[in-house]
Amino acid sequence: MTEEIYCDDAYAKTAQARIVAVHEGGIELERTVFFPMGGGQPGDTGIITNRNGKQIEIRDTIKAADSGIHMHIPVSQSTRLSPGEIISMEINWPRRYAFMRMHTLLHLICAIMDSEVTGCQIGFEKSRIDVNVDEKPDRDVLQSELEQIVARDLPIRANWMTDKKLSSKPDLVRTMSGQPPVSSRGVRLIEIESIDIQPCGGTHVLRTSEIGKLRVGKIENKGKHNRRINVHLDD
Ligand SMILES: [Zn+2]
Repeated sequence: MTEEIYCDDAYAKTAQARIVAVHEGGIELERTVFFPMGGGQPGDTGIITNRNGKQIEIRDTIKAADSGIHMHIPVSQSTRLSPGEIISMEINWPRRYAFMRMHTLLHLICAIMDSEVTGCQIGFEKSRIDVNVDEKPDRDVLQSELEQIVARDLPIRANWMTDKKLSSKPDLVRTMSGQPPVSSRGVRLIEIESIDIQPCGGTHVLRTSEIGKLRVGKIENKGKHNRRINVHLDD
């Protein structure tokens, strides 16, 4: 299992780590700041640099569901890396920070809609979330509600709960990523002060004001009860 630095500090952009193994499918490190694709959030990209200054460009990160091992997938396999070697890593921060703002924005929509979420996809400039509601939400009302929460500058925190305790609170499982992520520490809960709490393994900003300027885009009908809400970040 790879130690997930981003889980406790989503703002960590760089770190050093030992190479555990170099697989055909990617580079395995003992710890990482690279977020792996999951819950609608894309995997991180970035650079791994070895002691000799050789740089390996990472085009994607994935996590094996069974082992919890992260694979850092290089653009090309040509550069040699050896197990045991200490490397430094750096994620593409502007890209990741946009995902953090987007991801947190989708939590706000969850809180406002207060309904089942059937899917979501986070992108750099545009994201979407599918919610199970009968009535099509009003775009202007949603826009203004979201702007108000952003302006309130609410803090966002992560807490851990045992899965047993979580199963006694089924109303909390309104998660955007389907099954709540469970690790050896239990289930990670993301709380946006006074408006929302839900299990989530993704990366979020620390205050709602960091989301900044947002725009609610098209709201589409996707099936009888399913509405797709598109959102954009303008800067
Ligand atoms: Zn989340």
